[in-house]
Amino acid sequence: MTSPRNTELIRLAAITLVSAAAGLLSGHPVPLLLAGAIVYLGWHFRQLLRLSRLLRENRPLRPPFPGGLWRGIFERIRQLQAKSRKRKRRLVRYFSRFREAAAALPDATVILGDQGHIEWCNPAARALLGLEWPQAAGKDFGRLMQHPVLADYLSKGDYGRPLELTSPVDKTKVLSLMITSFGRSRRQHLVVARDITRLYHLDRARRDFVANVSHELRTPLTVVSGFLETMEEDERMAETWGNSISLMRQQAKRMADTINDLLVLSRLEMNEEEPAGEPVAVARLLAGIAEEAGVLSGQARHRISLDADPGLLLKGDEKELRAAFSNLVFNAVRHTPGGSEIRIRWEADGRGAVFSVSDTGEGIPARHIPRLTERFYRVDAARSRESGGTGLGLAIVKHVLNRHGSKLQITSKEGKGSTFSCRFPPARTGRAPGPGNGA
Ligand code: ADP
Repeated sequence: MTSPRNTELIRLAAITLVSAAAGLLSGHPVPLLLAGAIVYLGWHFRQLLRLSRLLRENRPLRPPFPGGLWRGIFERIRQLQAKSRKRKRRLVRYFSRFREAAAALPDATVILGDQGHIEWCNPAARALLGLEWPQAAGKDFGRLMQHPVLADYLSKGDYGRPLELTSPVDKTKVLSLMITSFGRSRRQHLVVARDITRLYHLDRARRDFVANVSHELRTPLTVVSGFLETMEEDERMAETWGNSISLMRQQAKRMADTINDLLVLSRLEMNEEEPAGEPVAVARLLAGIAEEAGVLSGQARHRISLDADPGLLLKGDEKELRAAFSNLVFNAVRHTPGGSEIRIRWEADGRGAVFSVSDTGEGIPARHIPRLTERFYRVDAARSRESGGTGLGLAIVKHVLNRHGSKLQITSKEGKGSTFSCRFPPARTGRAPGPGNGA
């Protein structure tokens, strides 16, 4: 089969030969050659017009196709059209599968455009958020929801943590709402709201149970401790029962400490509001803690040093911050051998304010580090109890830091020591007025 290029050349040669021969025979070679060229160009022009019309009307090209070079062009365009139709069909299929899957999700799913208007939502969004589709299309999500807690969350624009809210459709339902940005400019958002009513009530019941049990145990334990104290002071009793009584007193104290820590934890858990932003003079707070740490160390003679920026303030709850910082400092005393060095630091860096406690103790094996903030998790339970630990200290620290926009970081090298640190965001820090404080 001749190629389109050769067919085209043959066509051109034939027209030229025919018009040249006719020109020579008639004695007018130039006009006849010109006429041949016009016929040739005219035919091409016709094919060009046909192709342009077909493409403009977006019609599929169908044979028969003209010969020569045009056949190749028409064939190629037809192939590309068929390929593109196939791809389009595949995309439509994917898209409708995705829509079907998203529509079947039990969680409310809403897609927001870059101005916060609703682009799409699934049927669960009606049951959980009260959004009707397609009536909600194009409407502002925040305004349509009319939920003050949600409006506050949206205006802050910090979607790092999910929001818990009651469903606007059914007040008995508790939802956990998460917002994730997507798209090239990351200005579009995907909103997913999940019904967590059961989990919420279970968690509430667990918290209430721990708080109630702790309260119920506290009073009888105080009575027992009181009697033990009286017995210990009684010389006749002390003669026979001295050792047993002091052992009982130790155990009663351990129980009381555990109950107190459990109560602190459940109070922290129940208080969902972020602590008010009263500025706390951390350097002063740490000076007191360092002094108490020295007393706790006693004969063990830890070498405790404090390096704190005196003008650097932290907005938060002083009592909670004291509990967190003292837990970390006292841990360094209780979990390191006598004579170890303990450095407490409080300083500003470009990204906020950093509190850290470093020690030169035995360190913590890496496998334990991720679990240290779990309740009652200890590297060595017997040693922790001996040193007066309840196993709840780091869980308390984690909660307090969470409530103050911070996170506990633990680094440790076996045989070298550990560092417990946390960074507070610039919005939580401040400067005390006065010379040299930058205020
Ligand atoms: P505990 O009351 O036992 O101190 P925490 O929750 O405060 O409970 O700490 C959990 C465990 O973490 C401790 O039992 C101990 O094994 C380990 N730990 C905490 N701080 C240190 C430290 N500075 N050096 C070594 N181990 C530590």
